[in-house]
Amino acid sequence: MSKDIYVVVEQRDGLVAKVGLELIGEATKLAADLGQKVVGVLLGDKIKEKTQSLIEYGADEVVYVEDPMLAEYVTEPYAKALAAVIKECDPEIVLFGATSIGRDLAPRVASRIHTGLTADCTKLDIDVFKANEEDPGQKLLFMTRPAFGGNIMATILCKNYRPQMATVRPGVMKRLDKDTTRKGEIREIKVEFVPSDMNVVIREVVKEKHKKSDITEAKVLVSGGRGIGSPDFFGTLKELADVLGGDISSSRANVDAGWAAKDRQVGQTGKTVRPDLYLACGISGAIQHVAGMEGSECVIAINKNDTAPIFDVADVGIVGDVKVIIPKLTDALKKY
Ligand code: FAD
Repeated sequence: MSKDIYVVVEQRDGLVAKVGLELIGEATKLAADLGQKVVGVLLGDKIKEKTQSLIEYGADEVVYVEDPMLAEYVTEPYAKALAAVIKECDPEIVLFGATSIGRDLAPRVASRIHTGLTADCTKLDIDVFKANEEDPGQKLLFMTRPAFGGNIMATILCKNYRPQMATVRPGVMKRLDKDTTRKGEIREIKVEFVPSDMNVVIREVVKEKHKKSDITEAKVLVSGGRGIGSPDFFGTLKELADVLGGDISSSRANVDAGWAAKDRQVGQTGKTVRPDLYLACGISGAIQHVAGMEGSECVIAINKNDTAPIFDVADVGIVGDVKVIIPKLTDALKKY
């Protein structure tokens, strides 16, 4: 009976997904509250050499399943492999990234092993749940996620089924610093696959030619709010972002207006970002926006209203017109 915290870490072409490492970081905090270990789980083909990196980012142990049938992500063989790992290891908690793969895999596994799943969490805590005065309570995973279109935050408990399972949004939790001196046990779990486990035929894998940038990966984000005045001004913001080696993002107001694509949206119903620098241009700082960027290392806000709430979370605030300041800033930076 291990009762440990298991983190399913996605990998593609041998590259470990950042969200998996973020979850290992978060799991180390939960494990301290629970008095248990953090175990990373890797599934794939020829992935053994990637296992050590999970230890370096905080896992105490790693279990992995290697098989040619797991070379590309396909729901059924992956669900079978993970269900086998869970049955053999008996974890208390299993965490996944809320990526397209995590959102597909986690419910399949939950159904196979007859447990519950809380999807798209933004906060996890270990706390004691007491049903009533006489109840001494039990330590449970408190899983918080936006509900009713983001209008409320719901905290969900899984009282009667094990393991407790959650998918967690990328970018919400913090990855630990890499420590190459860390050591931990690495264990292979053998799963017998049969041809009927593969219910699709992969004829060809076509890689995206021009991979779209992902705002959760950017080190610098120049973000536009309604205060930029027109969709064309995103071109001016992009120029500044290019000078800074960054990317552009947006508030929801501009996404709803059709000025920016949905994948640019930062916030509660958009993406959670943690860049080194977040430059908020003409963004008021509504709570739903701030929820997606408050983990940024440094926030610079430009707003013509000196009482805008964005200044409450900004490290540097500039009161003024973005249409005047941004071109000047870009020109000045180009000179360096
Ligand atoms: P506004 O609130 O209109 O602010 C514009 C700002 O620009 C103002 O502060 C103004 O002073 C300033 N400004 C105007 N002109 C200039 C200028 N020339 N120079 C400098 N400053 C100028 N919002 C998100 O962003 N992300 C979300 O994920 C999100 N999810 C939501 C979920 C729910 C359930 C709800 C109800 C709302 C959500 N919202 C979200 C919307 C959020 O509440 C705000 O409406 C939105 O963030 C406002 O966007 P904004 O700051 O760009 O626009």
